Amino acid sequence: MYDPLVDKDIGQGAAYPSSYWATQTQTGASTGAIVADQSSDIVVIGAGYTGLSCAYQLASRFNREVTVLEAHQTGWGCSGRNAGFVLRGTGRLGLAQLTQRFGLETTQRFHQEYGAAVAQVRQMIADGNIACDVQPEGYLKVAHKASLGADLPAQAAFLQRSFGYQTTYLSSEQLNSDYMHNTQAYGAIRFPDCFGVNPLALAKGYSTMAQRSGVQVYTASPVLHWQRSGNDFVVHTPQARVRCKQLILATNGYTAKDLYPPLNRGCLPVLSSIIVTEPLTPAQLQQSGLHHTQLIMDTRALKYYYRKLPDNRILFGGRSAVYGRDAKKAVYPQRLLSALKSCFPMLADVRCDYHWSGWVAVSYDDLPRLCQAEDNVFYAAGYCGSGLSFSTLAGVRLAEMAMGIALPSLPIYQSRLQPFPLPAFRRLGQLAYYQWGRVKDRFL
Ligand SMILES: Cc1cc2nc3c(=O)[nH]c(=O)nc-3n(C[C@H](O)[C@H](O)[C@H](O)COP(=O)(O)OP(=O)(O)OC[C@H]3O[C@@H](n4cnc5c(N)ncnc54)[C@H](O)[C@@H]3O)c2cc1C
Repeated sequence: MYDPLVDKDIGQGAAYPSSYWATQTQTGASTGAIVADQSSDIVVIGAGYTGLSCAYQLASRFNREVTVLEAHQTGWGCSGRNAGFVLRGTGRLGLAQLTQRFGLETTQRFHQEYGAAVAQVRQMIADGNIACDVQPEGYLKVAHKASLGADLPAQAAFLQRSFGYQTTYLSSEQLNSDYMHNTQAYGAIRFPDCFGVNPLALAKGYSTMAQRSGVQVYTASPVLHWQRSGNDFVVHTPQARVRCKQLILATNGYTAKDLYPPLNRGCLPVLSSIIVTEPLTPAQLQQSGLHHTQLIMDTRALKYYYRKLPDNRILFGGRSAVYGRDAKKAVYPQRLLSALKSCFPMLADVRCDYHWSGWVAVSYDDLPRLCQAEDNVFYAAGYCGSGLSFSTLAGVRLAEMAMGIALPSLPIYQSRLQPFPLPAFRRLGQLAYYQWGRVKDRFL
């Protein structure tokens, strides 16, 4: 599998991974590669949510000529292979941790912005009439240990008091009677405004909206490099060049080593993996208690996230290999399946039908950044595996920034991604974190 810390470039025109989503989504004909030189006001690199949302805003709201260049397919990166959790947040810091780092007032602005991100996804789905299997609202953050469960009532009260966030505390008994018979669950907080979607259908929907607004979207068109030419940029793909005034990098965790080193050095691409089981039988649904499609994530350092899909399969995700070359090894889906079965022993016989992985971009300080990296070059990246809703809003904010509009006053909009110290050793740091996480989740 392509590895952004190893490979110099991302390749060209690969098919979608064999994910559950690819079998459930009308991907339609690919838009095709760019084959003739042209000019455009703005080039956006990468056709995930960030790039497509940004291109749509630039064309529909600011009337700009926009060209999107995507190395493979629309939503080929994280956007077409994620778990479809539309969450109110990004990065790895919750509201309590943000409050510790930035104080309550700034964190209230974060919370507002994260709410605007969820609303923006809803708005796009409505405006584009996107059929992406929107599920009823509800996300459960589940304590995987009794000691963590004991903190949940205070956490829920803090969210209600400080942010007016109408979360609900669920005791172990309520969780068991109303939501699931997970043997490793010790209560939960339920967030009322998050929901599940088919992520690839959402990305395709964004692409259609952008194209209808006049954006040229080219697939199988990797950007190899660019150079400045007077006040313009000349962007090179294998078969054609595009001249433009502004450049937007929406390549996130898939940014190759040589494409834009400051962005590559500011992210640690981490593999997240998903399995999807065969459909549960009525008896298995009843025994597991998983009769709903609420989103679920636990409190482990090495988190598991899962949801029942509309066709009664279980999607279950978590960490995977460290290196791209190991991503397809059988041990990783086996580990996820056995983790699922140890939470739900009544599913001991269930089979795994799909397995795939993708690169999430982890930032050094656990928060994303959206910035003007240099004159007329912009990027948004580092969502740390929680970027579905935020990437959609990041597209809006990137477009506004490129058009000279002031953004809400938040730390993530005021600086660049911090480079990892000793970037060549990022993977060693990750291995050490995984060892620590295993010990913490088991013993601490
Ligand atoms: C397994 C998994 C599960 C996840 N689950 C969730 C979830 O449930 N909820 C959530 O909030 N987040 C989730 N995420 C994270 C979320 O999917 C991402 O944060 C989000 O999709 C990022 O969107 P993006 O547009 O910034 O980047 P991407 O969707 O990764 O798009 C980047 C694009 O840039 C293209 N590209 C790179 N280099 C070049 C180049 N040189 N030329 C042209 N194109 C290039 C790539 O091909 C790619 O299509 C998950 C991620 C993974 C991998």
